[in-house]
Amino acid sequence: KELPSDTSLDNTRRKVFNAMYSFVSPKVPKSPSLIHASIELAKDLGISEKDVNSQEFLDIFSGAKVYQNTKPYAMAYAGHQFGHWAGQLGDGRAINLFEVVHNHNRWALQLKGAGETPYSRQGDGLAVLRSSLREYLCSEAMHHLGIPTTRALSLMFSGDDVLRDMLYNGNAAYEKGAIVCRVSPTFIRFGNFELFAARNDIDNLKKLTDYTITYFYPELGKPSKETYIKFFKAVTDKTLSMIIDWQRVGFVHGVMNTDNMSILGLTIDYGPYGWLEGFDFGWTPNTTDSEHKRYRYGNQPNIALWNLLQLANALYPMVEESEPFESILNQYQSDFETQHLNMMRSKLGLDLKDGDDAKLIEALEDCLLLSETDMTIFFRLLSTYKIGRPKNGIKMITKAFYKPNQIKEDIEDKWNQWFKIYDERLQLEELSTETRQTKMNSVNPKYVLRNYMAQLAIDDANQGNYNLLNELFELLKKPYNEQPEYEKWFSKRPEWARHKVGCSM
Ligand code: AMP
Ligand code: MG
Ligand code: MG
Repeated sequence: KELPSDTSLDNTRRKVFNAMYSFVSPKVPKSPSLIHASIELAKDLGISEKDVNSQEFLDIFSGAKVYQNTKPYAMAYAGHQFGHWAGQLGDGRAINLFEVVHNHNRWALQLKGAGETPYSRQGDGLAVLRSSLREYLCSEAMHHLGIPTTRALSLMFSGDDVLRDMLYNGNAAYEKGAIVCRVSPTFIRFGNFELFAARNDIDNLKKLTDYTITYFYPELGKPSKETYIKFFKAVTDKTLSMIIDWQRVGFVHGVMNTDNMSILGLTIDYGPYGWLEGFDFGWTPNTTDSEHKRYRYGNQPNIALWNLLQLANALYPMVEESEPFESILNQYQSDFETQHLNMMRSKLGLDLKDGDDAKLIEALEDCLLLSETDMTIFFRLLSTYKIGRPKNGIKMITKAFYKPNQIKEDIEDKWNQWFKIYDERLQLEELSTETRQTKMNSVNPKYVLRNYMAQLAIDDANQGNYNLLNELFELLKKPYNEQPEYEKWFSKRPEWARHKVGCSM
């Protein structure tokens, strides 16, 4: 709110009151270098390929120079972390540079890992290559999967060393610092609303809500009590649709705290995320959550609802009626049932709606849990099923089993039974085998960013070799397509990678 008179900006850590953000200056990196840039996204922003390779691009998106007539800032927000109120959090290692309007689209660009801000608390405001590369690659991969997400424009080395506690050996070690430029219409989160509500700062709560509606939900009309309720309903619907997409592809976010929930229903804040390999409702990639597994795959829909309840509580003071919020939250639950069932039908190639479909899907889930079965590979192979040959089903999906010699007679029988009812169900359909296959392949990706793939790219990039990063970036642009030149990535996680987990720091 108050700029120091000498205009040197104040990045000192503190509680910030009566403000949505604080002006800050990015840390000037020692010797920045570009690792990768998303040319598709650059073009959407009006930045040409030539510009991407310019000194100016390097300067601006590493934080070395502040673009003329702009004032970088860090946002204030709060949040519930792992179910507990955490108070003020804020952009501790993200710095918003500016907004760009291009082809009638508004984009906010922010650096992640560009130094401390008033919200850095005990952190250093920096990021290392492994977390930055994981965020960079996965956010673009999610975009190409057609899943709402924040985007990533560039990945750079800062040239600075960053001290990190490596989880696997417990020793602190220096790692190469990196900076990602993230891009989104806005980075406003549930936590921005919670901050003002918790402080009973209704004035700013209203300003923030009105701003969000005016810029990002203009179709809801002029802000009013009714509009706030419509706003909550719109956020709920978008959040639900994002969750259905996550469940469809087996994406597990890992840290669904309310400060990591976008007000636009975008996947945001890629930390210890992961992709289901063996199908398992209880799986989470987050090792710090291994006891309660709050953010496990099967719990993501419930957690989204819990987070929406926190948002409802934050918006309540502007409406002062709980009934409209309650009915929207109840509706979420029934909408989830319907949408989830339809999504699963699409994964199975079922175009019609039959009363027994939910049972068929439950029976499939039971089968998938009999022996470790790769979710991505299973659903992709399922599209090759030929009607009238249920006995061939299990042979067709063998590649999805992690422990093929565990598939003894009893397991085989259960799969045979399932393929028999699946076959009967498919007989009701009118689609040709070819059309069914095409439709299934448009919802069941062939390629996802498995943890070990990202890890291999990180190891190489740390040695200055970006070939694998380039390859994965290209591969993941067309996750639903057959790409014979990349067939080797259509395979199970290798055994050596079994216990390696993603890292968020
Ligand atoms: P996350 O779990 O990544 O959503 O982060 C939770 C909070 O911690 C956010 O307010 C982040 O800005 C902050 N944070 C995470 N890492 C750092 C860091 N290295 N330096 C400063 N703040 C951080
Ligand atoms: Mg976060
Ligand atoms: Mg994070």
